[in-house]
Amino acid sequence: MIELLTIGDELLLGSTVDTNAAFLGTRLTAAGFRVLRLTTVGDREPEIRDALLSALRRTGCVICTGGLGPTPDDLTRPVVAALYGRELLLDEHWLAELEGRFQARGMAMPANNRQQALVPDCAVLLPNQRGTAPGLALSDPALGTTVLLPGVPAEMRSLLEAQVLPYLAVQFGPRPPVRSRTLRTTGMAESALAERLAGVGDDLSHLTLAYLPTGTGIDLRLTTWGELEEPDAERVLAEGEQRLRQAVGDLIYGTGNEDLAAVLGVHLGRRQLRLAVAESCTGGLLAARITAVPGSSDYFLGGVVAYANSAKQALLGVADATLGQYGAVSEKVALELARGAVQSTGADCGLAITGIAGPAGGTPDRPVGTVWIAMQVPGESRAERFRFAGSRDEIRARAAQAALALLLRALR
Ligand code: ATP
Ligand code: MG
Repeated sequence: MIELLTIGDELLLGSTVDTNAAFLGTRLTAAGFRVLRLTTVGDREPEIRDALLSALRRTGCVICTGGLGPTPDDLTRPVVAALYGRELLLDEHWLAELEGRFQARGMAMPANNRQQALVPDCAVLLPNQRGTAPGLALSDPALGTTVLLPGVPAEMRSLLEAQVLPYLAVQFGPRPPVRSRTLRTTGMAESALAERLAGVGDDLSHLTLAYLPTGTGIDLRLTTWGELEEPDAERVLAEGEQRLRQAVGDLIYGTGNEDLAAVLGVHLGRRQLRLAVAESCTGGLLAARITAVPGSSDYFLGGVVAYANSAKQALLGVADATLGQYGAVSEKVALELARGAVQSTGADCGLAITGIAGPAGGTPDRPVGTVWIAMQVPGESRAERFRFAGSRDEIRARAAQAALALLLRALR
């Protein structure tokens, strides 16, 4: 188990987003280490010391980034040396390396950079090809292992790959990887999904189940945490996937980071069906989702953005009477829009969206977020009423996603 400690006032002020933690989490997890906790502290000696000491007490292995620079706010090196009770000694090799680099650029090395060649006694120096601060690794039986990496993301990343992962592999031995499998759902809120999966999560031995909301759906991620060697890990993941599919298979449209529009495209292509769309409140978002998929020209004919009622009539043949009697946001108009998309392009399938994205324009019986979505496939047409929550952007994105899902369900 490993803890991460990211150091820097800029991280607490929010002026720098902590991308180092995300990168370390991803790479260490993939390498089989369980990352137990992430702590962030500012450039202050007591906080760095406290955070490091308590992380070491919990796990005996900590990776820190930041505060190795040549400026007075860079405190990590002396704090860690003091904690481990080691003296800071000048590493002649690294000093010569730094002087050489400055010389090669025709510059004298600033005196400040000298402290980047100060290394705690007995620490392993991890040479940094991209910058002046080397990584450092310290280990002792009482405290455990601390690895220090520079804060600059590119330097941190290359040191992690080239030096730290091999160092940890030697320290802790080879490890079965942490492995995940993600099933993507759409069309049900997190709490309702969790209710349908009640019981399933508890039955998954060796696996954890995480619910990850994406804005247009919930990803279900199964993880084995490096307790199992292959092929057991693979078998357990496959069994877990099976359980989830049994419980909520109707909501699952893909795996990994598959896109719903791409999955729909595969179905359309396989059945040689061509699609056209008609959009009101999404203003082209649905067509954009569909055309973002490479190769969509095989099955997508086009779309009409019909925002005003007059455009719905003129471009898509929606009847004046239908608009008058039911209003633009209605089942009947959605169905006529879908039919209009099909008829005006000669497509086989149509999708239509008409709704109130807000923030204004809601009424008591059609509040903001009310969206009618219609689909037409050969031999069937159907409309569904949705009530999406969120901002204007979120409602529009959710409507486009729901339209894609509605058609996919009809085709499966
Ligand atoms: P250097 O030798 O370059 O001075 P350093 O170890 O002192 O490295 P910092 O001074 O703490 O690193 O940070 C250097 C740069 O890297 C800053 O621009 C900082 O915003 C950025 N940085 C530091 N920590 C992180 C982090 N956790 N995620 C993303 N960027 C970071
Ligand atoms: Mg800093």
